Amino acid sequence: MNADKVIEMQSITTPTRTHAPRVLILGGASEASEIATHLAARSDVTVISSLAGRVSQPRLPAGIVRVGGFGGVAGLISYLVDEKIGVVIDATHPFASKISGNAELACNALCLPLIALERPPWEPNEHDSWCTVPDAQTAASMVNQQRNRVFLSIGRQELGAFSNCEDAWFLVRAIDAPSETLPAKSKLILKRGPFHLNDELQMLRSESISLIVSKNSGGPATYSKIEAARTLRIPVVMIDRPRKHNVPTVPQPDDVLQKLAQLL
Ligand code: NAP
Repeated sequence: MNADKVIEMQSITTPTRTHAPRVLILGGASEASEIATHLAARSDVTVISSLAGRVSQPRLPAGIVRVGGFGGVAGLISYLVDEKIGVVIDATHPFASKISGNAELACNALCLPLIALERPPWEPNEHDSWCTVPDAQTAASMVNQQRNRVFLSIGRQELGAFSNCEDAWFLVRAIDAPSETLPAKSKLILKRGPFHLNDELQMLRSESISLIVSKNSGGPATYSKIEAARTLRIPVVMIDRPRKHNVPTVPQPDDVLQKLAQLL
């Protein structure tokens, strides 16, 4: 997304309120939209949501929306100053560690309050068969065996780690078409969640899936694949989250709103 596009979206949606405290939501997790909906309905704050611009047709949250990277920590600092932001809410996805680090550094530099949301990870129960791995590369090295029919459900960005897996067969699901090279034996389906248990069961059965690779994203929107794996006794290679926060986090949108109320 280029800078012109960012300016264009801002100018269309810039509101007339000028004195309300300005809150920047760094979006990416579904909770970000929920928080934006609450705040956009209020007259005592102005809410701006920032999206990275990775998805071609994002679901736009309520309130002002800007799209595209800031240009690292320095760019984010400039943006926060120029836009007179009073509070930053980090509601990015649990695997988006760079933007969270940048937000911490920028807020620290400007002495701005930062509220960081991190939804709890999924936990296995006694009926689950999980192998937890630290990253996509490790997952790729584990699953590349001839008899494996793998449901690869990790989004687009780390698919490249599987590009040299020539033995296993992969069912790859993503929202938009990936730019990374897919494994030689693979089938791509483009779909956006939330996904429902019956559909997941049907898909896993019809594709004879024997193994699932997932990120431990947490949250309900994509949990049905984990429930389906439990029902069908399919093992899951679960990619663990990166450590992305050095500040205390809260787990739910309501906690974010409470913290914000204390600040305003
Ligand atoms: P990342 O590695 O943490 O960030 C890479 C760069 O993307 C950042 O340095 C920043 O660019 C830009 N960026 C990220 N989030 C942004 C936001 N909300 N607003 C403006 N710029 C943003 O993140 P990622 O893993 O590439 O993910 C990109 C976006 O997709 C994130 O917003 C994330 O919440 C969402 N997402 C990620 C995953 C995942 O598995 N990684 C899954 C679902 C959704 P500059 O340095 O130029 O500012």
